[in-house]
Amino acid sequence: MNLNLASAALKKYFGFDQFRPLQADIIRNVFDGKDTLVLMPTGGGKSLCYQIPAVTLEGVAVVVSPLIALMKDQVEGLSANGIPAAFINSSLSLDQQRNVENALMAGYVKLLYVSPEKLVSQNFQPLLKRLKITLFAIDEAHCISAWGHDFRPEYTQLRFLKAQFPGIPVIALTATADKLTRKDIISQLGLADPSVFIASFDRPNISLTVRPGQKRFEQMVDFLKSRQNQSGIIYCLSRKGCESLAEKLNARGFKSDFYHAEVPPARRSKVQEDFINDRTPIICATIAFGMGIDKSNVRFVVHYNLPRNLEGYYQEIGRAGRDGLASDALLFFSYADLLSYREMIDQGEAGAEQKALKLAKLERMYQFAEAPVCRRKTVLNYFGEPYDGQCGNCDVCKNPPRHFDGTVAAQKALSAIARTGQRVGMNLLVDILRGSNRREIFEHNYHQIKTYGAGKEYGYDDWLYLLSQMLHIGLIEIAYDDHNCLRVTDEGKKILFDGKKVSLAMPLAKPKPSERMSAPKVVEKSKTQLQKEELLARLQHLRREMAIQQGIPPYTLFSDVTLQQMSERRPLTDAEILEIEGVSERKLQLYGDAFIREIRRFVLEKSASGERLTGSTHFITYDMYMNGKSVEEIAGERGFSTLTIMNHLATMYERGELLQIDQWLSPEANDIIQGALPLFEEPFPLKPIFDHFSERYSYDEIRWAIADYRRARETATK
Ligand code: ADP
Ligand code: ZN
Repeated sequence: MNLNLASAALKKYFGFDQFRPLQADIIRNVFDGKDTLVLMPTGGGKSLCYQIPAVTLEGVAVVVSPLIALMKDQVEGLSANGIPAAFINSSLSLDQQRNVENALMAGYVKLLYVSPEKLVSQNFQPLLKRLKITLFAIDEAHCISAWGHDFRPEYTQLRFLKAQFPGIPVIALTATADKLTRKDIISQLGLADPSVFIASFDRPNISLTVRPGQKRFEQMVDFLKSRQNQSGIIYCLSRKGCESLAEKLNARGFKSDFYHAEVPPARRSKVQEDFINDRTPIICATIAFGMGIDKSNVRFVVHYNLPRNLEGYYQEIGRAGRDGLASDALLFFSYADLLSYREMIDQGEAGAEQKALKLAKLERMYQFAEAPVCRRKTVLNYFGEPYDGQCGNCDVCKNPPRHFDGTVAAQKALSAIARTGQRVGMNLLVDILRGSNRREIFEHNYHQIKTYGAGKEYGYDDWLYLLSQMLHIGLIEIAYDDHNCLRVTDEGKKILFDGKKVSLAMPLAKPKPSERMSAPKVVEKSKTQLQKEELLARLQHLRREMAIQQGIPPYTLFSDVTLQQMSERRPLTDAEILEIEGVSERKLQLYGDAFIREIRRFVLEKSASGERLTGSTHFITYDMYMNGKSVEEIAGERGFSTLTIMNHLATMYERGELLQIDQWLSPEANDIIQGALPLFEEPFPLKPIFDHFSERYSYDEIRWAIADYRRARETATK
């Protein structure tokens, strides 16, 4: 099987022009019948690695998938592209299952999704034995590992596949990269000398922002204002937190709903459906939400509270921007979050070792939030992927900290800690430094110590920022076993008593939250930009209407990428719309007309109101011609030469529009001119051809012959 066939299938069934990095190598490996392990981040494009072989090879590919919702989503997506796919799991009635089995036996199904329980069950074996299986794909393969975070015992029985079907390639796919899990997958599945493909885990289209959690609701509102109608998930710590946040957001006019483990199942699926179908843009959820949702146009993920560890953080933000378009990950953190998690871990059931591990991961999470280092670099390094340089798409890179001689500031803080007898925590210390009138200060006579009010030059947040750095570089520590009071370390004493210097990072003068959180303001949008946005809104509307009719999610009908490209390039013919990413042949058949019609209407309206649209001129001519105007009339009205008008019409003809051309070009002249075309090269300059025939044919005739030649060639390559 060669890769050209794979590329052709990529275009035909998915409407994509190119494979992403590694996809082609992986597919070649599967074609070679070899076992394969694929590690790619969420949104990396794993599915195509087995779907392309599945549609090009003869037989059926069996895909093991742990989640019913995910199977449904995948099968819907494939069907929308005209690929016969089906699933078998516990959600099917006996009748439905029999239908699927019949379709399988008739050789009609190219991809069969099954749950692991079903696949290993005894009564499934006879069917399995009778099918012509091309490959086994094990999705979410990390579920096989007891070390992983999502262990599923049924997965461990999948080893029978290699034993029972030794010649059939197995491709295991996961977004969990650690070495232990990797080894486990290979050994548990009994893969034979597999090729392992590891993609970069960077998700450059997701911008990473971390903010201190003070006034987070107002910050949240600011953030949402510039993201009206976009889909997003807000992760909260508690069930109550989800509910109250959703309520507050609704009260402020941001349509949202909540989702957590105690919401009854029926209501949970409704919330999920409404999110998928763009009816509810915002979901406030505990981490239970998002697993098994393949929605490609989630534009932001917010952590309203600190996540428990970087693994969770990265997995959750990975749900944003699967379509590759710019998306946001915003994280709020506070010291209070850290403390409440710590308490939860302490009081939890886990053994001492487990607790220590959890605490260590939590610390790392908090450090990530606090450290003034490029976020992407920090997180990728944590996952063992070296990342050099600055990403340019995180809050630290966009607003780099300034370092200053922090000795005096540190001395003030250290001195205040010492003079309170090391009896205060972070917040009270800041209040002392800033000279607050808080009651506790007077109760303990802290207003009488020398450093009371000595730190007014820094704001509250600035002090927290400075103190956390002092904590990280070891000038102070926190007595977790003693009300979280601050202590001066030996290193701190050197600063306080020996005059040792320390350099600290100071955030730049902070813009107001409203300026920081909103999308960068474009001073004045260009005409082209406005036109694009207007058309995009119209196409989105059309997508929603049609998706409702078809009973599929809008992003399955066309992705955001596809609509963006349409609004930019304004395809006006079948040939043009086929060049848009994500327009497969099937989708052209089903939806092409409706979208082309909408774009044409847009173009005509704009041109009627005198707006200029680049790249649409040939269509405007065509429309006038189809409305009965002669070439001369159009030339007069539009102020072009008749040759230009003729050229517009020829362009439309080339792209498949039905026009009678006999009146401009006789069949004989057509034959003769086309016969000579191979002597010349694209883009067929008219003058040399004109000269070649010693002026026997007019420029118009030559132009038409070229158009006819190109049109025929287009149809031939299809
Ligand atoms: P994963 O399973 O790794 O999370 P998916 O297979 O769902 O990722 O792919 C993520 C998105 O990327 C989907 O919207 C998919 O259509 C798109 N995609 C995958 N491969 C390509 C490609 N070669 N060209 C363009 N888009 C692609
Ligand atoms: Zn960065």
